[in-house]
Amino acid sequence: MGLNLIMMGAPGAGKGTQAGRLAQERGLPKISTGDMLRDAIREQNPVGLEAKARMDRGELVDDATMIEIVRERLTRPDAKCGFVLDGFPRTVAQAEALDAIMRERNNGPLIIVDVQVPQQELVRRLAMRRICVKCGVNAMPNAASCTNCGGELEQRMDDNQDVVLERLTVYQRATRPVLDYYRERPTFRVVNGSQPPDRVAQELDTMVNDATGGAKSL
Ligand SMILES: [Zn+2]
Repeated sequence: MGLNLIMMGAPGAGKGTQAGRLAQERGLPKISTGDMLRDAIREQNPVGLEAKARMDRGELVDDATMIEIVRERLTRPDAKCGFVLDGFPRTVAQAEALDAIMRERNNGPLIIVDVQVPQQELVRRLAMRRICVKCGVNAMPNAASCTNCGGELEQRMDDNQDVVLERLTVYQRATRPVLDYYRERPTFRVVNGSQPPDRVAQELDTMVNDATGGAKSL
């Protein structure tokens, strides 16, 4: 049975970092919609080009296109034993489509993890967030320079308080229906994301083991 994981969490909750770590440790692909879109465009496949045309017009990529891209990505060999999804599903329609894909795969349940951090703490984190001028990687909290390439760090331009609050509001408004869609499932889990990253990782591991163990006995 596969380990099929969806990571949810507001900007600044640390979801991306945790998704990356978990994927690496478990030998699964971390599948983020941003990466998938970039790949689809680079490979010049029709779905990717259609998505690019929309983004160039300043539109959002529609559900049908996103679902097609995810469906295709999940058929690749590296996703055979599972995946860690980051940034998908974003709508209930996408969540329903993913359920249909999972039924076809017939390879274990979806585990949904919501990394929760109080709004106040998110605002604080986002306001402090710095990125590398050279490679764009998020800086470690107290680093003097980029741990990835040694480049100079700067505050992100969009991370002032008003913009941060607006981003969080947009995220919550968009995501609530998706969380509600999953909330009642036995494989829905909440992780306390305000702990230090190591503790979050530990809690996450326990939860994932528990959810897969529980699912096996079903
Ligand atoms: Zn860098």
